[in-house]
Amino acid sequence: MTVSRVALIGAGLAGLTCARALAAAGVQVQLFDKSRGPGGRLSTRHSPAGPFDHGGADFAAHSSDFAQQVQQWSQAGWLAREGGTGYTGVGEMNALLRALAQGLPLQLDTEIAAIEPAGDGRWQLRAHQQAPTLGDRRFDAVVVAMPAEQAAPLLGASPALAQAMRSVRSQPTWTVMAAWPRALPARGERLQPAAGPLREARRDDTRPGRPRVAGVGCRWVLHASPQWSAHNLDAPAVQVVRRLLEAFSEALGVQLARPVYAEAHLWRHAQVPSPLSEPCGWDAALRIGACGDAWHGADGIDGVERAWLSAQALARAMRAT
Ligand SMILES: Cc1cc2nc3c(=O)[nH]c(=O)nc-3n(C[C@H](O)[C@H](O)[C@H](O)COP(=O)(O)OP(=O)(O)OC[C@H]3O[C@@H](n4cnc5c(N)ncnc54)[C@H](O)[C@@H]3O)c2cc1C
Repeated sequence: MTVSRVALIGAGLAGLTCARALAAAGVQVQLFDKSRGPGGRLSTRHSPAGPFDHGGADFAAHSSDFAQQVQQWSQAGWLAREGGTGYTGVGEMNALLRALAQGLPLQLDTEIAAIEPAGDGRWQLRAHQQAPTLGDRRFDAVVVAMPAEQAAPLLGASPALAQAMRSVRSQPTWTVMAAWPRALPARGERLQPAAGPLREARRDDTRPGRPRVAGVGCRWVLHASPQWSAHNLDAPAVQVVRRLLEAFSEALGVQLARPVYAEAHLWRHAQVPSPLSEPCGWDAALRIGACGDAWHGADGIDGVERAWLSAQALARAMRAT
């Protein structure tokens, strides 16, 4: 059977990249995502204090293929340079993802619960009960593009892919977004304390094209370490805000004023310390694929680049089927 109609579950960088590569080859694609917008871990949180890039906020390109792609995205006006070798979305990180989603059929607010045989050699998707109806649900192939822990239960039809995803462990990250009426007395715009709960504090409002908001002098994003996040997975958000603000205050060596905005977000599957070395997962007999940052592990290649490389590898494997 030729692969002419493909469902992609997950509209983060991997799902969007794979969908664009397949669509460019003439394949009919349909994306589904459980969130309100595309982007996944490269989403931007919009708040009364302005936008916060509370997930992956910048990235580097190591492979020549990704470097070339990043160059094209920059020329299109979707990416800006950040620091020596990094890139970020213009105005907000999610600008890139929204640009990539343009023109692709994407059904949002739709959490997929299962991939099931349609009875005619194709696959059909079952959504969680609260999700909108799925329309024509029959597909020649299905791509699962999300963190390994979320992918594994969907991949039951392909024991090899499910097993591969079960062998990957992601690390969690508790993140606090906070804004103050005036700039803080910080040396620099990025702090990485050597000890304590904080892995990194990064000023967000001074990055390329970030909007100014009346009454807000600065916005910071505070990421807890994976160890602290894992130990505090079930902590109430208000306690996480308090503890990370204390740690930030200690790192700055000043008593912080009360923020005008502070909110915590738990990334249950933030980053993958030991990804699989295979470029992607493609069960050609069943026509089920998997891509994302759990794949394409290699020295020096970070999550964003792995998500893109694995999605390209999967699209190539599917076209060759
Ligand atoms: C705090 C933080 C900091 C980071 N820092 C960096 C960094 O500095 N450099 C770097 O390279 N990377 C970084 N990363 C990692 C990087 O963001 C990810 O590797 C990359 O975005 C993964 O993209 P993806 O498409 O594979 O997955 P995701 O972006 O997670 O996309 C998966 C999508 O699937 C959807 N989904 C999940 N389950 C379902 C379902 N059942 N039905 C429908 N939709 C579903 C989700 O809503 C999501 O949109 C960071 C991540 C975090 C959280």
